[in-house]
Amino acid sequence: MAEGVRIRTKTPTPYFLSARRPETHDTATFRFALPADATLDMLPGDYVTVHATVNGKTVKRPYTPSSLVGTTGWFELTVKRYATGLVSTYVHDRRVGETVEISGPHTGGHWVDGMATRVGFIAGGSGITPMVSIIRWILAKRLPVEQWLVFANKTEADIILREEFERAAREHPTFHCYHVLGQPPAGWSMGVGRVTPDLLRAHLPPPGPGTVLFLCGPPPMVDALEGTLKALGYPEQAIILP
Ligand SMILES: Cc1cc2nc3c(=O)[nH]c(=O)nc-3n(C[C@H](O)[C@H](O)[C@H](O)COP(=O)(O)OP(=O)(O)OC[C@H]3O[C@@H](n4cnc5c(N)ncnc54)[C@H](O)[C@@H]3O)c2cc1C
Repeated sequence: MAEGVRIRTKTPTPYFLSARRPETHDTATFRFALPADATLDMLPGDYVTVHATVNGKTVKRPYTPSSLVGTTGWFELTVKRYATGLVSTYVHDRRVGETVEISGPHTGGHWVDGMATRVGFIAGGSGITPMVSIIRWILAKRLPVEQWLVFANKTEADIILREEFERAAREHPTFHCYHVLGQPPAGWSMGVGRVTPDLLRAHLPPPGPGTVLFLCGPPPMVDALEGTLKALGYPEQAIILP
């Protein structure tokens, strides 16, 4: 962890947008400047609040920084744009050099070092974003933790950070990644359709001491899978909804 100033604000504070890069057709990563020696005061999985003014009204939404916790000088948000989404569209419409009002970080369903030795992540679409900082943290710190990611999307084009996850799976024997697509391309060899109990049994760590799961995605998926996971034997306290 970097030493230096740890930033946490209760009130909305303007942060300069210093860079942005596309991730998929509807998702981009936005980099916000911090003082050179400063980092956000957060654990992997904690979130900030973006405050936007839309049609004269203030609206706010939570976003989990995707950048590695402890990074100084900047932090990043990875945001999926919803066509009719107030705040996601507001963020996507910002240009480099403009500011965005952000408060926090706030405590979310976060990772604490030592909490588990086996971690499963079940993500649907942009539900991957709260998990990115946890996955990056465990890999970067070379923690003795085995990770399994089950990532459900509609199409290949919707898979956020696909290259990063597939590279991690090649380079780290302790990182496993299994994609599930609703509309797979011809020749697709991984999961197809919905995330089923059999699929979870095959691609998650088994329940037991030392296992935790993070589950995040569209509410119908989360509701359905929470029940499925309990039926597979994962205790309620081992299922974290960021
Ligand atoms: C703790 C937490 C962390 C989050 N982190 C991130 C993040 O890092 N990146 C990110 O992109 N999002 C993240 N989200 C979701 C984010 O807070 C907003 O809900 C999302 O950006 C949509 O807000 P909006 O104002 O653009 O859309 P709204 O104006 O609220 O809604 C517009 C339309 O989008 C649909 N919609 C809204 N939210 C979702 C959703 N989550 N999934 C599917 N459809 C939806 C609504 O049904 C509606 O049709 C997080 C949510 C939580 C609770």
